[in-house]
Amino acid sequence: MVVDPWFYISLGLLAILVAAIRYTVMVGAYHLVVYKIFKTRLKKFKIKEEFPTKKVVLEEAKWALLNKVNFGFVGIGTYILYKKGYLKVYHDLDEYGLLYAILIVPVTLVLLDTYFFWIHYFMHHPRFAKKSNHRVHHLFKNVSPWSAFSVHPFEGLIEILSRPLLLMFVPLHPYSILAFLLITFGLNVMGHSGYEFFPKNYPRIPLLNLGSCSTFHFLHHRDSCYNFSLFLNVWDRIMGTMHPDYEKFYDEVMANREKR
Ligand SMILES: [Zn+2]
Ligand SMILES: [Zn+2]
Repeated sequence: MVVDPWFYISLGLLAILVAAIRYTVMVGAYHLVVYKIFKTRLKKFKIKEEFPTKKVVLEEAKWALLNKVNFGFVGIGTYILYKKGYLKVYHDLDEYGLLYAILIVPVTLVLLDTYFFWIHYFMHHPRFAKKSNHRVHHLFKNVSPWSAFSVHPFEGLIEILSRPLLLMFVPLHPYSILAFLLITFGLNVMGHSGYEFFPKNYPRIPLLNLGSCSTFHFLHHRDSCYNFSLFLNVWDRIMGTMHPDYEKFYDEVMANREKR
């Protein structure tokens, strides 16, 4: 294989550009709708009444955009793996069938949640917490959607490596990959939105309550030794790291919703 460095440099820059535009446009759209246009109408759904200052939001966006540099390196690496045939990406939907292409998406979410839980768990482990760059993400207590990807670039690299790893072991059609990327992006933004739109009894609804929510992750930013999961909370339940006041705090958020 002839290596043209300019091709790879261009590919890396393109990956960074796409990631930065995706973040700015999608989070910006959410911010515009929820924090600006419907600010008054939706204020009863705000977890914490106060809004983060402009300075904090800019700091969130700065770390998130800095983190996009990883997309360049990982984008190039993933492309090389693909060209060398190490990825299980397939293009013919009939190869595994439509049902597989649909059902594999929730499976990838569970796998990513497991990957995230364990690296996050160790980042907060007393043995590693002081040295961990994860403290950057915890600079933000009253989170806004801009903080969804506000991590130190080193942490961002570990997290983003989950993508090529997934593609190396799980056969995925580009449509499934696209669904995975959109859903994970949306859930991450929702978890950091600072708003709780879920129903009143959500933490007590069987099965549904195995999913995470904005309040669940809000508590992680407030009290960092609990709630390490990303989309589900199954690993927190298994490992005994569910916030003991999760349901009580959720009820308080709901009570505030009714008062406002
Ligand atoms: Zn967070
Ligand atoms: Zn954390």
